[in-house]
Amino acid sequence: MSNYESPWMNDELRIYRKSVREFIEDEFLPRQEQWREQHRPDAESWKQAGETGLLLPDAPEQYGGGGGTFAHQAVVVEELAQVGVHFACGVQSIVAQYLLHYGSEEQRKKWLPPMARGKLVAAIAMTEPSAGSDLQAIKTTARREGNEYVLNGSKTFVTNGSHAGIVCVAAKTDSKSAAAKGISMIVVETKNLAGYRVGSALEKVGMHEVDTCELFFDDVRVPVSNLIGTAEGAGLSQMMEQLRYERVMIGLIAVATAERAVAITTKYAKERVAFGKPLIDFQNTRFKLAQCKTEAHIGRVFIDHCTAEFVAGRLDPATAAMAKYWLTEAQFRIVDECVQLHGGYGYMTEYPIARMWMDSRVQRIYAGTNEIMLELIGWSM
Ligand SMILES: Cc1cc2nc3c(=O)[nH]c(=O)nc-3n(C[C@H](O)[C@H](O)[C@H](O)COP(=O)(O)OP(=O)(O)OC[C@H]3O[C@@H](n4cnc5c(N)ncnc54)[C@H](O)[C@@H]3O)c2cc1C
Repeated sequence: MSNYESPWMNDELRIYRKSVREFIEDEFLPRQEQWREQHRPDAESWKQAGETGLLLPDAPEQYGGGGGTFAHQAVVVEELAQVGVHFACGVQSIVAQYLLHYGSEEQRKKWLPPMARGKLVAAIAMTEPSAGSDLQAIKTTARREGNEYVLNGSKTFVTNGSHAGIVCVAAKTDSKSAAAKGISMIVVETKNLAGYRVGSALEKVGMHEVDTCELFFDDVRVPVSNLIGTAEGAGLSQMMEQLRYERVMIGLIAVATAERAVAITTKYAKERVAFGKPLIDFQNTRFKLAQCKTEAHIGRVFIDHCTAEFVAGRLDPATAAMAKYWLTEAQFRIVDECVQLHGGYGYMTEYPIARMWMDSRVQRIYAGTNEIMLELIGWSM
C-alpha cells in the first residue's frame, strides 16, 4: 500500500503538491500556536497563501484563480490535513463555486481576483440558531426596497466569520411562498457596513485555529445586484447542488487524517516500551493498527473514486453524501483507536493524536450531519 498513488494524480499535480507541501511546512506549521491563540489565521497568512497559489486553485485564470481542476483543490486540502493544519481555504473555494456557477460576470470580476490573492476572505452563512439541518426553517429575511435588499436576522457557526470581507448569506426573499422557493443567496460586503455585527469567536472543542462565530444583521442594506443568480428563490437548489463540493473535500480531509493517525501511531507503537517490549509486539496493538490501516485504505480508494468522478462532473449527490458520512465515521473510529493505543499520552494536547481527536469530532456534524447524509442516501434509493 505504501506505493499506492491516487489514480487522479499526474505530473503537473505532483509538482503542485510539492510546492503546496513546502509552503505549508515553512509558513503555516510554525504559526499554529499563534493561530490557535487568536482563533484564526492572520491576514498575512491569507495573502501568502494567495501568492503561492493555494487559494482558488480550481477557478479560471481570468478571475485570478489557478486555472486547475478540483484535483488541485483536493491536493491543497490533503496537504493541510496531512500535517493537521486547519486553514479554511475550502470555504473560500466554496463561495467561489457559487460565484462561478450562478454569479454574474460583474460579481466574478469584482470578488474572485481578491479572493484568489487572499486579500478578501469569504464565508458562507446558512446556519441559524434555530435552523441547522432544517435549512428551510431559516428566519433571516432580505426584503427588497428599490434597488436594495434589507437584511434582518442572525447566523451562527460561521467559519471565517470574524474576518470575512464577503459573506454569502442564505436569506428569505419571499416569506409567503414555500421555503424551497423563497430562499436566496445574497453576498454581503462587510466593510464599514451599517447594521452588521460579528459576535465573538465561539469556544469550540477543537479546530481552534479557525474562527467560528455568530453574525447579526440589523437592517443591513446591500444592492440587489448582490443576489446570486438571475432570479430570487434559487438559494436552496444552489446550496443542495454545491454541497457536493464541500462533502468531497470533507471526505478528503477524513482520509488524510486517518492515514496520518495510523502513521503517527505505528511509529509510537514501535518506540514505546511496556512489559519489556515495544507496544507493536503485542498482538492486540498490531491487530488494531492493521484494522485501522485497512479501513483507512478502503477510505482512500473510495475518496479517490469520488474525487475522480467529481473532476469528471459525474459525482451524484447520494455518493457525495456516502463519502461524507462513511469517511468521517471511519476517521473518528480510527483516530479514537489511535488515541487508545497511545495510552495517557493520547490525551495530552502536546501529542498530535490528541488534537486530531478533538478536531475529528466535528467532521461528523458540519456540512450536513451524518444523519442527514443517511437521509439523502435513503431518499435516492
Ligand atoms: C465548527 C463548525 C463550523 C461550521 N461552519 C459553518 C459555516 O461556515 N456556515 C454554516 O452555515 N454553517 C456552519 N456550521 C453549521 C453546521 O453545518 C450545523 O451545525 C449542522 O448542519 C447541524 O445543524 P445544527 O447544529 O443546528 O443541529 P440540528 O439540526 O439541531 O441537529 C441536532 C441533531 O438532530 C439530528 N437531526 C436533525 N434533523 C434530523 C432528521 N431529519 N433526521 C434525523 N436526524 C436529524 C442531527 O443529525 C443532529 O444529530 C458549522 C458548524 C460547526 C460545529
